[in-house]
Amino acid sequence: MTKHAAFAAEDAVAAPAPAQQPRARGGGGCRTAAAQAIDTGVVAAAVARATTGAWLDAAARRGDHDEWMEKHPSALAEFEAVVAAAMGKQVVMFLDYDGTLSPIVKDPDTAVMTEEMRDAVRGVAEHFPTAIVSGRCRDKVFNFVKLAELYYAGSHGMDIKGPTAQSKHAKAKAEAVLCQPASEFLPVIDEVCRALTAKTAAIPGATVENNKFCLSVHFRCVPEEKWRALEDQVRSVLKEYPDLRLTKGRKVLEIRPSIKWDKGNALQFLLEALGFADSNNVFPIYIGDDRTDEDAFKVLRNMGQGIGILVSKIPKETSASYSLQEPSEVKEFLHKLVKSKQRN
Ligand SMILES: [Mg+2]
Repeated sequence: MTKHAAFAAEDAVAAPAPAQQPRARGGGGCRTAAAQAIDTGVVAAAVARATTGAWLDAAARRGDHDEWMEKHPSALAEFEAVVAAAMGKQVVMFLDYDGTLSPIVKDPDTAVMTEEMRDAVRGVAEHFPTAIVSGRCRDKVFNFVKLAELYYAGSHGMDIKGPTAQSKHAKAKAEAVLCQPASEFLPVIDEVCRALTAKTAAIPGATVENNKFCLSVHFRCVPEEKWRALEDQVRSVLKEYPDLRLTKGRKVLEIRPSIKWDKGNALQFLLEALGFADSNNVFPIYIGDDRTDEDAFKVLRNMGQGIGILVSKIPKETSASYSLQEPSEVKEFLHKLVKSKQRN
């Protein structure tokens, strides 16, 4: 919190107290009138302080946000700069699913994408090799996206498969793409899924999702006072499984095999499969909203090629170069990219 915001918060907390003073009742006369006048003055001052406090708070937040936006400008506002950087190179598109192509919803099973978003992704895939990179099970994310011409990397990149439909970008080699670096963990993931489901059954709203090579414990619908207990329960189960690790995402606990393989590795694997290993003529664009997407953003930073775009309305520590606020802006960005390709 900034200095201003801290002050503003103090004001906001202190301000309402005078307004709750008991007012003089009945009796008439100057004493009541004077008391009322004093009350009115106190209330007015309190309201003024609260308003000023709230304003300062909002101004401080705006200041923080403006500073963050300078470091991670909107990919829409800076669209021409993005296009200029990609000029003459092969764009390869990487898209996270939840919170990027679909809104974050209470029930993860209902996180469908709109038909308009599907059209936007289809359009991009017609012009550029396109991959969906998600923490979810590959089959599940495919059932949401329903586009056979894409590459899919499910389970945080631990389950990668090439297009099942004809795609002009899928070379003979890429068509057979299949990468499952954690396949030996399948039995243990099933076992831990059962253990977590039983252990967390008493916490209302907690759901365990089996993503084949990893697990998600969603707590979006769990009352906040139970979050700690839920995490403790998950950790107590994982104590027996040192080969699994726990990370946190947006209202979700992620359990994954402790192998060095993440969304960043998936991005590198796919670039290689597409024939762009060590190429200077490739421009990967990765769009995602979660902590697990940071691994991919870091890979792009280290490569010095392409760009990472974080989907977020609020400032966050990120290795992405650009930002977009929400899925509707992602859709607009994808449409603009297609239009720009058609123009050039
Ligand atoms: Mg996401």
